[in-house]
Amino acid sequence: MSAKLRLTLWVTFMVLVVSAMVLVFVLVINRHSLPEDPAEYLVEVVMDNASDVEFDRGNFEWNEMTVYKRGVYCSFYNTNGDLLLSADKEDMDFSDEPFKENTIRTVTSGDKEFYLYDRYVDMEVTGLWIRGVVMTDSHVGITNVILRLTVMILPIILIITFLGALWISSRTFKPIEKIVATANSINDADDLTDRINLKRGPKEMKQLARAFDRMFERLEKLFEAERQFTSDASHELRTPTAVILAECDRAKRKAKIPDDYRESIGHIETQGQRMSDLIEELLGITRLQQGTEKYPLKKSDLSEFITLSAEEFVPSEKRGIRLETEIEDGIECSFNPSLMSRVVYNLLQNGYKYGKENGYVQLKLHRDGGDAVITVKDNGIGISEEDKGKIWQRFWQADSSRGTEGGSGLGLAMVKEIAELHGGSVDVESTLGKGSTFTFRIPCGEAAEA
Ligand code: ADP
Repeated sequence: MSAKLRLTLWVTFMVLVVSAMVLVFVLVINRHSLPEDPAEYLVEVVMDNASDVEFDRGNFEWNEMTVYKRGVYCSFYNTNGDLLLSADKEDMDFSDEPFKENTIRTVTSGDKEFYLYDRYVDMEVTGLWIRGVVMTDSHVGITNVILRLTVMILPIILIITFLGALWISSRTFKPIEKIVATANSINDADDLTDRINLKRGPKEMKQLARAFDRMFERLEKLFEAERQFTSDASHELRTPTAVILAECDRAKRKAKIPDDYRESIGHIETQGQRMSDLIEELLGITRLQQGTEKYPLKKSDLSEFITLSAEEFVPSEKRGIRLETEIEDGIECSFNPSLMSRVVYNLLQNGYKYGKENGYVQLKLHRDGGDAVITVKDNGIGISEEDKGKIWQRFWQADSSRGTEGGSGLGLAMVKEIAELHGGSVDVESTLGKGSTFTFRIPCGEAAEA
């Protein structure tokens, strides 16, 4: 469950708890101050009236009297039983009932049942009968009213609270979603130029977004500096390496050179050649990453291109391995030929290098939906589960005991860059000791054209 929803539910629940507590509190107070029993309340109203009776110069002060209060009706009679004052209420005329002081009686009128209570107030010169009537099932207290109101209003309050809390928490968490989305897009696209740029939102979120943006900026500069360094360094190393190689070549051709020197120069030349290859690969990969060199994609027949690349491929060591190909015809796709031949070369070369002696390397091309898929499979040493994630890093090589001598650790990093440049991906499935299958996939459908 998202933090947003959790917070909203918590606030709503708390409002429900507080409302329930207030309700209980009100009901308890109400129960103590107002009787719920109609008979009890009837006596209370009549007694109140009785204590308020005033007789002045032959007249009663009626304005002090209560004729109706919460279901209780009062009538006033003189000592002869003549009605002096009453609430106008049909089907509640109990004038014919004889007066009986201080007893609560049950009487019926029509199909209704009433409590009747009489009280006589003696004013010396005259007297006053006060008769109170209330229906036996009358709700004299306000408990019911409160409960009914609660049932009607509480759901509305809860809905408003829920929506309000959801709205506020959505607004509060929106910046976090933006931060996560930017961080993910930077991660997925490997593009450090993206920024959160939060304009609206709580102050703390803006501070957090700014801190992230500063961090991305710093990372971008660091990565850029690293790429620039690799590019500059390899560029600068190119010339001296070329000079070393040329000098080795010249020295070896001299007739008078002793054999010992010839051997040493041979070693220098081999290592110089390795250095030169490495520099070329490094330059290639940094150019790809920096985007300094343009690699235009051309729409052409990928099937034909892969067939040709396989035919032209010469492994650095054959080791009795046979190359098997299975290429689906007529796959049209947009790709850069020089980069694509690099992919085929690197994957096949690895297949031969890490394949089983006298084993096989299979190169396949097929269409999968809108994608073109190249797979290179060998039955060689395989890659451990732990190493699978690392093989795409620059300069990473499994330990040298596995016969990786001669490699640079740059081949697969380059393949990955090329896949991304084509809007595709590369993946590996491998079992240690059994072999590996590399799957290189690029989009070829309408999406790729777009
Ligand atoms: P290298 O020049 O070392 O081959 P790569 O980038 O091509 O550099 O490969 C990186 C590492 O991945 C290799 O050193 C090797 O350990 C491992 N690797 C690559 N291809 C295979 C394969 N087909 N089978 C087993 N291991 C492989």
